[in-house]
Amino acid sequence: MNIIPRPKNITEGQTLQKGKPSEKKIYTNADGFMLEYVTGLFSRDVLQEEEAPFFFLQISDGFSLEMEHLPEILQDKEEGYLLKADAKGIVIAARSSKGLFYGIQTFLQLKEQGWERGLEIIDWPDNDIRGYHFESRFGIPKFERIIEIIEELCKYKFNTILMELEDKFPYEEVKGITSPNALNKEQLKEIIRYANDRYIEIIPLQQTLGHVEYILKKDDYYPMREVRSDAVNSELPFSFNPIGSLSFNEIDEFCPSNEEAYELIEKMCREMAEKYPSSKYIHIGCDEAWNLINCELCKARYGEQGFHKVFLEHTNRVARVITSLDKTPVIWDDMLRGFSEEEFELLDKNIVIMCWLYYNGDLDRGISLLTKYRESGFRVIGASSAKCCEGMSSDYLDMPNIKDRLININDWSELSAKFDLMGVLTTVWSNYTGTIAPPHPFFDTIWYPLLYSADKYWNTASDSQEFEKRFLENFFGVEGVENCFGNESEEIYEKTSFLTENCKRNKYIAEVYKFTSLLSIYRQKSMATYREMYKLYDGTPEREKAIVVRKVKELETMREYLKPEISRLLSINFNEADTKEFVNSRFLMDEMVIRI
Ligand SMILES: [Zn+2]
Repeated sequence: MNIIPRPKNITEGQTLQKGKPSEKKIYTNADGFMLEYVTGLFSRDVLQEEEAPFFFLQISDGFSLEMEHLPEILQDKEEGYLLKADAKGIVIAARSSKGLFYGIQTFLQLKEQGWERGLEIIDWPDNDIRGYHFESRFGIPKFERIIEIIEELCKYKFNTILMELEDKFPYEEVKGITSPNALNKEQLKEIIRYANDRYIEIIPLQQTLGHVEYILKKDDYYPMREVRSDAVNSELPFSFNPIGSLSFNEIDEFCPSNEEAYELIEKMCREMAEKYPSSKYIHIGCDEAWNLINCELCKARYGEQGFHKVFLEHTNRVARVITSLDKTPVIWDDMLRGFSEEEFELLDKNIVIMCWLYYNGDLDRGISLLTKYRESGFRVIGASSAKCCEGMSSDYLDMPNIKDRLININDWSELSAKFDLMGVLTTVWSNYTGTIAPPHPFFDTIWYPLLYSADKYWNTASDSQEFEKRFLENFFGVEGVENCFGNESEEIYEKTSFLTENCKRNKYIAEVYKFTSLLSIYRQKSMATYREMYKLYDGTPEREKAIVVRKVKELETMREYLKPEISRLLSINFNEADTKEFVNSRFLMDEMVIRI
């Protein structure tokens, strides 16, 4: 049985006689969307039966609900459910329609796998919030694909999406920011409705301090920047940071001394509140604002060392705006890590802290930070990552660093069991910085670590060792293969090719794994080849030069094979402009430079 997330209690019984499912009748006391949902799932009439003191769905020859109460353990579990299959039929029962929905998701997974034995499952989650971070800085999937992604998320019992649309959000009041590829407001409305119907709450994210490159790169917004100098650092020690002349990105932040910036921030927050009316929370970002106190105005106002002061003032100010909109503010935690007890006292207590830690070795750091936030009286949501910045190495530009991702998720599963967190979500990042960087729209490489997090946050005691087998059988319908996900190598390419040819489901994702693993290999070969290309021009003897020529040719052959495949795959779920930019970012310079 390959259910993801793994249910808490499973009792297996005898093999059941194979009935004809189409002749069975379906009974329920659910109404509204759930009735519509069940009717759609089974493509036939669902019979409404009298009330029971819990929500139920029964699939049987005739109606005979023998249960009077839910098992004791489920009485206070809003998302818990009981699923029972025996000779008489199948019953799913739960305290809420949400629990019933999750019971149905488990049933659907069993059905997909052709399960034929009697069983009883009593199941509930360990974490109240189980989230997925939808980030569209580079490339936003087509509307239809976003709907499919939501469908897939609820199948694995995610109940929260942290939605970071940046310039793909249909701003109306704020002018000149929205991308031509943005969602329109009807599409956004439909996404919210579709998710909410399926018990997924959306937390919109509107950055209000740093990471606003998508705004500040526009000329009209230049005066709102904290860094308003284009000077190149031309003296020793230059900039030792490979990605920017300042500590991060010079167009990253609003100037907290600029009142026009606050007018803009308030407008954007109001639009978030209006366009996400059902959301309880609004995430106001506030992470990695490393260029604070750069401008003369801020230096005069807060002092050269006034980082904490300016951050507190900004965060409390925006938090008040969010509270006035009847929402709860959420912030990333990194800027707070060095705060003293006294400084925590000054921070608005309505704020929910989202603590992000993504790397191997962060467990102890997590314990110390969570202890500190709890002692300061804040509510906390944890954040792990299924794909994030793995340093400047190009190895993980397209594929996640699977080994470290799983360690990170294990750590957060442990932390969530140790501390009373509101829940945990799994982030998926485009790249090492914001809008000005190589694009990364291939989010479909994250399904393996993402579903691993679905497993570990629902059931923190779930066995990690057998997860890959369960994932391969559940997600792709493939058996008899292992170690398919890891560092890119010939072996991984062969295994993902096997998946592509043998999968029963999710062929698209199998192809994404196959071709992006090859793309990573291509990039490494490209970099290695580039280093030797001087030999083509420095008078190296012909025989040695010919070796380099052969390498360049080999790379060219690989590129000619790979480029149309990558382009084909991307164009299925992304628009033409996103596809073109991604393909250019991976191949254009090589075509210009690495050729004979
Ligand atoms: Zn300033």
